Amino acid sequence: MYTIDKIGRGGGEFFLLATSTHTALIDSGFPCSAESLIGDIKDKLKGRALNYIILTHSHYDHAGGSPYFRRAFPECSVISGEYAAYVFTRPGAVKLIKEMSDSAATRFNITEYEDLTGKIKVDRTVKEGDTIDMGDFTLRAVETPGHTKCSLSYYSPEEKLLIAAETIGVLAGDIITPCCLVSYDATIESIKKTASLGAEAILFSHGELLKGKNECDAFFENSLKTHEETKAMLKKEKAEGKTQDELVSILKKHFYTEETKKIQPEKAFYLNAGYIINCMTKEN
Ligand SMILES: [Zn+2]
Repeated sequence: MYTIDKIGRGGGEFFLLATSTHTALIDSGFPCSAESLIGDIKDKLKGRALNYIILTHSHYDHAGGSPYFRRAFPECSVISGEYAAYVFTRPGAVKLIKEMSDSAATRFNITEYEDLTGKIKVDRTVKEGDTIDMGDFTLRAVETPGHTKCSLSYYSPEEKLLIAAETIGVLAGDIITPCCLVSYDATIESIKKTASLGAEAILFSHGELLKGKNECDAFFENSLKTHEETKAMLKKEKAEGKTQDELVSILKKHFYTEETKKIQPEKAFYLNAGYIINCMTKEN
């Protein structure tokens, strides 16, 4: 048994996962809004301790809030993949986290916030097959590269619950948005790998908990189809002479819907679109 509460908004959503004995934040949202969400997390914890902050990858809207929460809940440990922990030590990555967070702050009219973006600390790194004890069940790390090199999903065999990294696609309304930023082939492998786990519930980054074996199976099938069709479409348009900007517009028309807008800032869409086009048109 577990409960899942959503925290944050506007692209900085993350979750509080609780069992009868353990609690974990799944990701941690934007740096700029983290301080303002501590009260909300405390309310949802109802006096319980926070055991973990479990990160799916190193992006600013997932890992950026973690140093603020690690300070507010000193008993918790931050868990990520090994490569994500390395990314947080790179000045270029820290600079991008700060830039993207500043852009989110502007959107939310946050004029000032304490900058802890260079202080993202990981207490424990996990790799494929490592488990996290949630008391009533375990969460097993499942390496799912493709969105980033560092993307990790987590699976509970007991609950058949998949906490999905963005690699498998983000479900926004009825639309599955491809999120392959570093490799199309790795993304397809990661979708197939997570599909084979037999999940009966999928928690999507920024989104909702999808429940039901048939619903989960249908998602994986649709996600593979969406990826294949999007790749074929982009390759065709590129072969016909469309420029990079025109390809971005095509992606925007298909995937930047009213539902997507709620969870992805326009700046992040444009940043990602360039990578997605490269992944889908440069590999075989
Ligand atoms: Zn991401």
